[in-house]
Amino acid sequence: MTPAHRSGQLGELVCSNSLKSELPNTAQGLLKQEMRALGSLVLKCADRARVPAGAALAVDREIFAGLITEVIENHANIELVREEVSHLPGDEPVIVATGPLTSEALSKELMTLTGEDNLYFYDAIAPSVTLESIDQSRIFKASRYGKGSDDYYNCPMSQAEYERFHEQLIAADIHEGHRIDRKMFFDGCMPIEVMGRRGSDTLRYGPLRPVGLVDPRSGKRAWAVVQLRQENQAGTILGLVGFQTRLKWGQQDRIFRLIPGLEEAEFIRYGMMHRNTFINSPRLLKPTLQYRGNPQLFFAGQITGVEGYMESAGTGILAGINATRLLRNQPLLVMDNRTMLGALVGLITDPHNDEFQPINANFGILPPLPAPARDKKQRYADYALRSAAAMEEIQKIISPPVEIN
Ligand SMILES: Cc1cc2nc3c(=O)[nH]c(=O)nc-3n(C[C@H](O)[C@H](O)[C@H](O)COP(=O)(O)OP(=O)(O)OC[C@H]3O[C@@H](n4cnc5c(N)ncnc54)[C@H](O)[C@@H]3O)c2cc1C
Repeated sequence: MTPAHRSGQLGELVCSNSLKSELPNTAQGLLKQEMRALGSLVLKCADRARVPAGAALAVDREIFAGLITEVIENHANIELVREEVSHLPGDEPVIVATGPLTSEALSKELMTLTGEDNLYFYDAIAPSVTLESIDQSRIFKASRYGKGSDDYYNCPMSQAEYERFHEQLIAADIHEGHRIDRKMFFDGCMPIEVMGRRGSDTLRYGPLRPVGLVDPRSGKRAWAVVQLRQENQAGTILGLVGFQTRLKWGQQDRIFRLIPGLEEAEFIRYGMMHRNTFINSPRLLKPTLQYRGNPQLFFAGQITGVEGYMESAGTGILAGINATRLLRNQPLLVMDNRTMLGALVGLITDPHNDEFQPINANFGILPPLPAPARDKKQRYADYALRSAAAMEEIQKIISPPVEIN
């Protein structure tokens, strides 16, 4: 058992009972649509355990976990062994899906296998926003001291704006969550609010330092500058540099909108800090979810650096299909990156992804449409249509599907 699991049931939801939106014109809904097309057991059980929750798919957690447990326990081809695995066999197909709270013994084994630098134990995540939601009239593009190309979006703050932001930041509630190892704070991952409490100017001399950045509109250096950095190749998602935080999500939503240009920002991810064991997938995994050093070894779930119930279950389906295909001597499946699952897996296994951070399903990771509609809802619906067409091709490849009913 992990410290978060309580029941011994398979498929236990450790926190929220919501599997998020079902609407296909949302990123989570689209991922579900694709998982259903791949015969997701998790979603079949969720449908049977559903409780009313508007457009979201929420479940009675006991019924849900009970159904999954029943299917697995009674399946003729599955033997359930309730034991800690501390060594990985190297000579038969194996899927490692031990999640964010992977046990210590197996973590050590993974470190030995992949190298110490390739296993992370915490998420220190800064929030991310979509490019289209920021007010570019208030922001300028530049690199500090003009070094390299103008890669950063810079939000200049006046003294009054900075002081107001600082005041709100240090007064905000903190999400305690799991205890955070203090060592982490000294490893360059100090939460922005902790840094802010060290003094009124600490941020201005730290991540918000304005030096080397001249606002072209005023021709002057601002009092402080918040920098946003591109997070995906398409440039549609931007991360707030140095803004890892333990603030509650509602507080982040309120306080980070005080940053000039982010008043109407759409946050695709809030900052977080919690225990999360995950591997350096861009360096270690192929898009088939195979370990580069041993094609028999697959990884799936949150340990690959995806984040969330559905994202974890989705990668599980792909690893499962591919382990089966390996056993059958069939070519392995690489998901089309126009699907949400394909885009997620593509991103976590992209060897150019140098600043690897766990990621949720979101529209920003999909390749842009050839002629994107101006209306956001229409654009998302178009993404869903494009994914459905790609899924039809995938279904032909994996036909007959591997079914667990
Ligand atoms: C406290 C907490 C709250 C969360 N809340 C949410 C939420 O509200 N919504 C959301 O979408 N996501 C949430 N998450 C993330 C969520 O855990 C994942 O999205 C999802 O459960 C990951 O699925 P998984 O199958 O990869 O791992 P898990 O569901 O964690 O399953 C991994 C399993 O592997 C077992 N295991 C670990 N080590 C070993 C070993 N050495 N040998 C054998 N078995 C082992 C574990 O006991 C566990 O049963 C939360 C995570 C945590 C830790």
